[in-house]
Amino acid sequence: MTRQINVNSRTYQWPSAPTIVVCIDGCEQEYINQAVLAGVAPFLGSLRSIGTVLAGDCVMPSFTNPNNLSIVTGAPPSVHGICGNFFFDEEAQAEVLMNDAKYLRAPTILAEMARAGGRVAVVTAKDKLRSLLGHRLEGICFSAEKADEATLRQHGIDNVLSRVGMPVPSVYSAELSEFVFAAGLAILREERPDLMYLSTTDYVQHKHAPGTAEANAFYSMMDCYLQRMHGEGAVLALTADHGMNAKTNAIGRPNIVFLQDRLDAQFGAQSTRVILPITDPYVVHHGALGSYATIYLHDVDDARQRAVMAFIASINGVEEVLTRSQASERFELPPDRIGNLVVLGERLTALGSAAGKHDLSGLTVPLRSHGGLSEQKVPLIFNRKLKGVDDTRRLRNFDVIDLALNHLA
Ligand code: ZN
Ligand code: ZN
Repeated sequence: MTRQINVNSRTYQWPSAPTIVVCIDGCEQEYINQAVLAGVAPFLGSLRSIGTVLAGDCVMPSFTNPNNLSIVTGAPPSVHGICGNFFFDEEAQAEVLMNDAKYLRAPTILAEMARAGGRVAVVTAKDKLRSLLGHRLEGICFSAEKADEATLRQHGIDNVLSRVGMPVPSVYSAELSEFVFAAGLAILREERPDLMYLSTTDYVQHKHAPGTAEANAFYSMMDCYLQRMHGEGAVLALTADHGMNAKTNAIGRPNIVFLQDRLDAQFGAQSTRVILPITDPYVVHHGALGSYATIYLHDVDDARQRAVMAFIASINGVEEVLTRSQASERFELPPDRIGNLVVLGERLTALGSAAGKHDLSGLTVPLRSHGGLSEQKVPLIFNRKLKGVDDTRRLRNFDVIDLALNHLA
């Protein structure tokens, strides 16, 4: 009997071995490449011959929440509804966080596999993702950030710190992600889950470029855990929520277009509202600056919209301006959760709202961030050979579970 589940119009074969999907936050492919070249990630390097190394596109905006939810639902934001960390609720006329599971419009593969009798575990670095990833999940689901608060009743596991053998790390640290891997390894050994989802944080990638000592140390740490999970017989499927690029000029000064200031000066205060969906409660390492913004117009008429679009398109550092319908069609976004316009920054440019609204004091190193099309390419790496993957298929990061469950050779 072949056991399978159907989720969001896709079919998934039952895992034949514990299958671990890892979303390496902010994993620009060059991080792995440089760590392998430096000889500090031998296991990842070995996957060229024993596994499969592919690349795919993440969903736009290239931010954490939309992509984590795409990966676990196997579907784009038009299906699951999560298109940022933050959006403007037009009904409530308020800017609200989209962390709450009430904003999720589709079931996750994780919850459906558990409902079908599978053993499922989720470990996320930051607690902000836990309620979305764990929506309706009967299984293990906790964050490294609040690992000490996990209870059997609420999180499906307790005594996490003693199982993992690490203290709760700082939310701004490489150790927060290490905790995710250490917990994943402990759960793999003790619980043998059918499907496990591990999601790290991009604290290191925001601060350190590929090939630097700090970045290589981080990937070396990861390599050790992945090697051990491989040794335990797990199927490993690695991808990222988005890439990462410097958003600076040649001497490391940030290139920032403060869209709200520019629009206020040109069209008057209160005529537009710039929303930066990268905004979340943890902005120290990027100052809420990414290469994606959405704009609400107070008086929406065609002539005004065209004038605003033309003005924005003329600003240096802006890559593209799209209308709501263009953006929702091209990027598979829910039209009711984006503004009248979507603006993309060029690879080296971040988009801000008003300069006064950004606290840049935490930016102790040159700004690195994401959000645009330039951070869309991400790795898809497996410790097994795959079969039946059509060369012409445009792979997405949210195909990772399909590839890991349906395409093992
Ligand atoms: Zn991220
Ligand atoms: Zn980030």
